[in-house]
Amino acid sequence: MERKNAAMAIVTLFLILAGLTGGTLFGQTNRETVDVMVSGGTVVSMDAKRTIYEDGSVAIRGDSIVAVGARAEVEAKYKTAQTIDAKGRLVLPGFINGHTHVPMTLLRGLHDDVTLNDWLYKYIFPAEAKNVNEEFVRWGTRLAAAEQIRAGVTTFADMYYFEDAVAEETKAAGMRGVLGETFIDFPAPDNKSESEVLAYTERFLKRWQGDALIQAAAAPHSIYTCSKKTLQDAAALARKYHAPILIHVAEMKKEWEDSEKQNGMSPVQYLEKIGVLGPDVVAAHCIYVDEADRKLLAERQVGCVHNPSSNMMIASGVSPVPEMRAAGIAVGLGTDGPAGSNNDLDLMEEMDLAAKLAKITKMDPLALNARAVVEMATIDGARALHMEKEIGSLEAGKKADLALISLDEPNAVPMYDIYAQLAYSLKGSDVETVVIGGRVVMRERKLLTVNEEEVLRKAREYGKSVSLSLGMK
Ligand SMILES: [Zn+2]
Repeated sequence: MERKNAAMAIVTLFLILAGLTGGTLFGQTNRETVDVMVSGGTVVSMDAKRTIYEDGSVAIRGDSIVAVGARAEVEAKYKTAQTIDAKGRLVLPGFINGHTHVPMTLLRGLHDDVTLNDWLYKYIFPAEAKNVNEEFVRWGTRLAAAEQIRAGVTTFADMYYFEDAVAEETKAAGMRGVLGETFIDFPAPDNKSESEVLAYTERFLKRWQGDALIQAAAAPHSIYTCSKKTLQDAAALARKYHAPILIHVAEMKKEWEDSEKQNGMSPVQYLEKIGVLGPDVVAAHCIYVDEADRKLLAERQVGCVHNPSSNMMIASGVSPVPEMRAAGIAVGLGTDGPAGSNNDLDLMEEMDLAAKLAKITKMDPLALNARAVVEMATIDGARALHMEKEIGSLEAGKKADLALISLDEPNAVPMYDIYAQLAYSLKGSDVETVVIGGRVVMRERKLLTVNEEEVLRKAREYGKSVSLSLGMK
């Protein structure tokens, strides 16, 4: 009797094990070892077929994904010592913030609800002249890294000054960045002349070549703050090092009107005429772009970045996003700001606003849907930054950049449609765990690469010193 029971127990144990491993018990000894396994979540891959794995796993080795699929299949092939339990969570490619100025976190809310002109000339330019130095930029970047990681952003494109310091802090926080040193035709906080900015940017581009996380870029600010020569010199320097060119394009009505008057053509056509447009350009805003402009942007494979919060907050206009997508342009999403034109770095909010802004502008609820804005925050954002071979979806061979989003929140249940939930219900604060290049940078809402307490304290101190410098309090 006893022997019979023991035999039964062994058979039962065998059946359980075989069931647990998807019937591959005998294949287990051959399983390859990976560094991290994100296991058991609803994996929203954003691959070409937009595959969703209800009970999925992502296997990670080094900084890359080696497998994505149904949990049973992935775990039949791979084993690991480090499992991140994603059960009951959404697993997404990390969000891509295609346009921002991260050190400006320290000027967040400095003075809002004024015209762009007043904001720039009465507050921002004086505040920058008196306060912005390399140390300021470092603390602002650390603060922005904390805020962005908390909201599931894994890659961002930035345009500011002392961009080499932005790059160092971005790398230290374990984030991926396309970071552009700003060219502007007046003395900036870091470089006082064009020859200085050219020399600085050349050193900067050389230094970061081949880095795993940082892509150094040149960022001529816009056609209204840069001469033709500055624009062409910045583009030529970037192209010498195969670096991206980040620029604000057609972001204001005045910019478009002035270009028509001075150049006899639109901002987009002017940039084409002077040889700037190309498949290495990332154009922020693209609000005043007509059909001919859109055709040109598509032909030249320019990436565009839509910033709905910013466009609404400074009342600059509405980018024709549905038309740009229809023309075949890669359109990503950005927060811009974070000061004066947003004022935060939450890309999930931009998804929500992008859809709703398009709907109300066209008085058509079908104008831009939830899936489209999730694409803009992930795979299309990657295309806009010309990085779609590396990031933007969860697929074998791509970088292991991903965000786990909690569904155990009052705003997360019930869930009928994943894309609608992402666009309209879930918030950046629902992000729990973030992995960038295979490294866990936030685990269950605890930041692992930024000393948050110290950063918050420093940011409050900067708040006081900036106010004092402007005689505000
Ligand atoms: Zn901007």
